[in-house]
Amino acid sequence: MSTSKNFANKVVLITGSSGGIGAVTAVEFARYGAQVVITGRNADNLSEVAKQCAAVSPKSLKPLEVLADVSKDVDCKRLIDSTISAFKRLDILVNNAGKGVMSSISDTDILDKYNDIMDTNLRSVIYLTHLSVEHLEKTKGNIINISSVSGLSPSARGFLYCMSKCALDMFTKCLALELGPKGIRVNVINPAAVRTNFLQAVGLTKEQSEGFYSRLSGKYPVGRVGEPIDIANAILFLASDEASFVTGINFVSDGGNLNAP
Ligand code: NDP
Repeated sequence: MSTSKNFANKVVLITGSSGGIGAVTAVEFARYGAQVVITGRNADNLSEVAKQCAAVSPKSLKPLEVLADVSKDVDCKRLIDSTISAFKRLDILVNNAGKGVMSSISDTDILDKYNDIMDTNLRSVIYLTHLSVEHLEKTKGNIINISSVSGLSPSARGFLYCMSKCALDMFTKCLALELGPKGIRVNVINPAAVRTNFLQAVGLTKEQSEGFYSRLSGKYPVGRVGEPIDIANAILFLASDEASFVTGINFVSDGGNLNAP
């Protein structure tokens, strides 16, 4: 096992790990020895990911499953409390849970949309980080936030999502300055399109979503859109000791597609 992928004795909490990028990331951390904590709102999906994690874990470690909605403060608190109660430590926090939204400044429910997207994509990260710092300081751990290329460039009908991710990027950079002296690294990954249920959660059908990814593939210099494992690999690298001199960066994983999406 290479040193970069040895997470034995590490406790890793991945939000939004009942599907998509978070689920694959949880399985990869489990494969390399971590005790993972998985969380989301869908219990069935969570159990399925738990089985996959236990199946690849070298010591058949069972993940801690916590049903939680990260847009609710009380759930965020319970998530960290459950983790510490079960394992007495936290080494790595992956703030991955997030959602997209189409928005127009003319939308009559624009403020409701604003609250919903910011609570899910940003407020949750701030609160989970607040709750985790004392534990990460003890383990000299690190935080990885999952942003988007949408945080780096604007898109029509996407200003709420773009703003939430742009703010997440700046939060990461500021926190890297504040937490560096405590021995905690903080980095952010900006993926371009990754084949998950993300677009279906925004309201597209499976067929529309697949069509979108097919059309985009030709536009990416590498000839394809991203897969969850591409982002999981980047997360594991940034979380590893081999990235110990890396903090406060935007790690852009976009297939060379400098013009989003
Ligand atoms: P998916 O929709 O496939 O998965 C999203 C995950 O987040 C699910 O596990 C979902 O679980 C969870 N989640 C969503 N809302 C909440 C909530 N309120 N509380 C708790 N869990 C929640 O999306 P991806 O895997 O693609 O997205 C992961 C991250 O990557 C997001 O932050 C997204 O913005 C970002 N990203 C994705 C890109 C893409 O093209 N796919 C591109 C760039 C960035 P459940 O439904 O069980 O609650």
